[in-house]
Amino acid sequence: GNELPGSAAFPAPSISLSPTETRWSDTSTFASRKKLQGWCQLANGDWSLGKILSSSGGESLISLHDDKILRVKTEDLLPANPDILEGVDDLMQLSYLHEPSVLYNLNYRYSRDMIYTKAGPVLVAINPFKDVQLYGNDFIEAYRRKSLDSPHVYAIADTAIREMIRDEVNQSIIISGESGAGKTETAKIAMQYLASLGGGSGIENEILQTNPILEAFGNAKTARNDNSSRFGKLIEIHFNSSGKISGAKIQTFLLEKSRVIQCADGERSYHIFYQLCAGASASLKDKLNLRNAEDYKYLKQSNCFSIAGVNDSERFHSVLEAMNVVHISKDDQQNVFSILAAVMWLGNITFTIIDNENHVEVVHDEAANTVAQLVGCDIDELKLALSTRKMRVGNDIIIQKLTVSQAIDTRDALAKSLYSGLFDWLVEQINKSLKVGKQGTGRSISILDIYGFESFDRNSFEQFCINYANERLQQHFNRHLFKLEQEEYVQDGIDWAKVDFEDNQDCLNLFEKKPLGLLSLLDEESTFPNGTDLTLANKLKQHLHSNSRFTGGRGKSFGVIHYAGEVVYDASGFLEKNRDPLHLDSIQLLASSKCQLPQIFASKMLTLSDMPLALPYRSNGADSQKSSGQLFQLMQRLENTTPHFIRCIKPNKFQLPGVYEQKLILQQLRCCGVLEVVRISRSGFPTKMSHQKFARRYGFLLLESVASQDPLSVSVAILHQFNILPEMYQVGYTKLFFRTGQIGVLEDTRNRT
Ligand code: ATP
Ligand code: MG
Repeated sequence: GNELPGSAAFPAPSISLSPTETRWSDTSTFASRKKLQGWCQLANGDWSLGKILSSSGGESLISLHDDKILRVKTEDLLPANPDILEGVDDLMQLSYLHEPSVLYNLNYRYSRDMIYTKAGPVLVAINPFKDVQLYGNDFIEAYRRKSLDSPHVYAIADTAIREMIRDEVNQSIIISGESGAGKTETAKIAMQYLASLGGGSGIENEILQTNPILEAFGNAKTARNDNSSRFGKLIEIHFNSSGKISGAKIQTFLLEKSRVIQCADGERSYHIFYQLCAGASASLKDKLNLRNAEDYKYLKQSNCFSIAGVNDSERFHSVLEAMNVVHISKDDQQNVFSILAAVMWLGNITFTIIDNENHVEVVHDEAANTVAQLVGCDIDELKLALSTRKMRVGNDIIIQKLTVSQAIDTRDALAKSLYSGLFDWLVEQINKSLKVGKQGTGRSISILDIYGFESFDRNSFEQFCINYANERLQQHFNRHLFKLEQEEYVQDGIDWAKVDFEDNQDCLNLFEKKPLGLLSLLDEESTFPNGTDLTLANKLKQHLHSNSRFTGGRGKSFGVIHYAGEVVYDASGFLEKNRDPLHLDSIQLLASSKCQLPQIFASKMLTLSDMPLALPYRSNGADSQKSSGQLFQLMQRLENTTPHFIRCIKPNKFQLPGVYEQKLILQQLRCCGVLEVVRISRSGFPTKMSHQKFARRYGFLLLESVASQDPLSVSVAILHQFNILPEMYQVGYTKLFFRTGQIGVLEDTRNRT
């Protein structure tokens, strides 16, 4: 039969994770057990489970499931877990914890639609790419009543609510994973649970209705996800003293502005453009001089207008509905659509060359006229703003004509600013509507949905920002789960062999150090009129070549060794994107508008900027400063919360159900530290209680009185009475520490008494 974990045949579980280390401790024992199963790696890198037929001379014969026989080095075999551990709902329970056993366990569950699995304190969620029967009121109710306890987003949300109330500490649910892994869906599932438990005031519906709005304006079809979020989002949901939702606040970051003017073949710009074109009423179309999506250059260039299974027109009506729910007035909705139409028409504005220096004039056509009308400005001023630039020379202002490429950049910069201004304004309106009421307790649960680490063949400014953000988040994760844990053990004087974990502080230093860090150098170079992407790359190499996290590269490329691996960045476009060059001419154009929104955008840009009168005029501060500032704020807010981590995993690149690609999954598990966390959690003492609390909680269960009534003596007496084995706990100066599953018997007895 099957031996149980830890029995003689299965030596004490090894918890090291590198596959080369997690093996039977004694191969002679192993060799004599022919019925054993083991994992061996196939030529393609995948792991396969096989029966061990024989072992001798350091080699073993393995029979695989397809009846193939494989000869492998015995030392390359990894032990399989006993059958009774098949599909356990927490990876911590596995006797043998190595990559193939983790992959197998996740797959076992995934193929049965059990897409959630715990990895110690972390919830792993594998995207099913189909509807699974795990959601809705019955499930919410079951998790609320605790009649269901299998791993689930609902269970995480439930714990967050309970801990918020019990400990009076704000909570956060941090969701990460790569594009298409299911972060946004997971965030919505968590919100659904919070809204259901904390509902009643009606505000919960408003909160849920922010999703279709933000997705319309901030999501787009990409090569990897038909509904890819092109911004990061933190939503802070506030509760009152009776545990009901009292309001919410949304913070967004790093909206991908470049998508407004350009995106890759087969991808789309933001959903809302196509929705508006498909769904606008005849009168709205008339008012905006709206055409089909196919008629706009910004939308046309990627050759993709629709998404399989999505009706843009229907979605448009849902967005209108949602805007009503969050109290965006009909007038404001009209204003929003005017800006959207203006952005689309801007892309159709063309230029004619007027001299042999390539200087241009704006073609006075329908596009220019429509933009002027929609933005609410004078057509001549629009033409001037797009074809000239005011420059200050000494005490004089001179007017410089723009070349074709400068004019196109100016036009595109205006389109991007209008769109990002609109996005920020919408978030602001939503926040006004969800405003955290005075009756709030100040207690909140935040949900963070932010794109994961990215590494492509070509990595640009966007990846640079995203990966920096993830580096910060990873540190938060490390800090919370590993560092704090270790520090607590050490502080409390318990004996716990230190476990090394990857600390990424040095990588953060590479980014953040002043004045010689990546961000500072980038901002500095952005302010030099003569700075180029090449001078930036050279400067980085000159100052950072000795940093162990920095790798040089040819020309404009440079590399960073992130926690998840090395990424080579191409500095092309870095300065332009970081400068975010909306010239004063354009800002003044918006300020001169008769319409409300452009005026608001302009005044925001003007107050944000320190308006140096240096050349050239720049709008708000450099982007990397802004994003690192935003990130800093975000991290500060999260640092004061009890975090709950959800790691979303994308099982395949095809967005298909039922396809489980080992290599892709393994790489994600490694990237997000899931394997590490299981190891650390299990090798530590995850359950902690102060002597006082322990004595108070279980003291009354004592059958014999204890001579001394001090909490420690009482605690020790309880431990003895319940036969808790010495290796299962440690007594610290202030707390007792337990391995997983030890408190159960005490709790059971307590509940029965
Ligand atoms: P990005 O970083 O690109 O925004 P993401 O991690 O937010 O990606 P989602 O948009 O949440 O990914 O998920 C991608 C798609 O996967 C969804 O549109 C949906 O089709 C599917 N999906 C994700 N989670 C689930 C789920 N729990 N049940 C069913 N389908 C899901
Ligand atoms: Mg998303």
